[in-house]
Amino acid sequence: METSIMQSLLDQLLQLPEYALWILFLAENILITISVLLIGRLLQQKFAPVPFTTYRYTSREWFICAVTNLLNTVVTYAGFRLWRSSYLVMDMSVSLFIILDFLLLFLAMDLLMYIFHYIIHKTFLYKAMHGLHHQAVDPKPIDLFVLHPVETLCFGGLWLILLLVYPFNIYAIILYLTVNVIFGMLGHLGIEPLPEKMRNNTVLKYLGTSTFHHQHHQDVHYNFGFYTTLWDRLFGTLQKTDL
Ligand SMILES: [Zn+2]
Ligand SMILES: [Zn+2]
Repeated sequence: METSIMQSLLDQLLQLPEYALWILFLAENILITISVLLIGRLLQQKFAPVPFTTYRYTSREWFICAVTNLLNTVVTYAGFRLWRSSYLVMDMSVSLFIILDFLLLFLAMDLLMYIFHYIIHKTFLYKAMHGLHHQAVDPKPIDLFVLHPVETLCFGGLWLILLLVYPFNIYAIILYLTVNVIFGMLGHLGIEPLPEKMRNNTVLKYLGTSTFHHQHHQDVHYNFGFYTTLWDRLFGTLQKTDL
């Protein structure tokens, strides 16, 4: 059987000692965080409606962000271990499943996170956990990582469970993870790069824009979705506003 590039890349990971895997996964997570903070700031500078006033993150924000990175590294390592011991199976082919599996991951995670997000808002878990993220009423890019440790692990757990139930295509997984970070960054920009006319276009109005998640930070009773507005429309929790 022909070995794909992805298969051989992953096989190389199998040769690495455990400590090297931890370093690699930590570096990957830190790189993602740095990209979000840098690109987020560039977008703010470019699209801020009023002259951009620069700001610094507090040491508290940096600390929580560091903890989130460590926990995300644990989730990455757990996923790798599950794959190595064949509990988690991935399809390595370059096929139509890249698109199909991506759409499936995108919608399934959006629904699962909608449900989880709704529950943590409507129960004691808000005060105990999710309220930390909502201390930001006007979010900044770092707020994507300002999460309670238990919440970070719950999101990671949700993700791993989904990967365990179906052998998703590896390229679809990589694409989904990239898109997930982009949506997370846009949701915590604090400004809206897209003009209103564009946001109301037939496709975009069903997607979670910067405004969509920003509104959730401003009024916690609406907009529990992440990537799409579908579940909020379906369950009647979409913020209707002309803002
Ligand atoms: Zn929330
Ligand atoms: Zn948020």
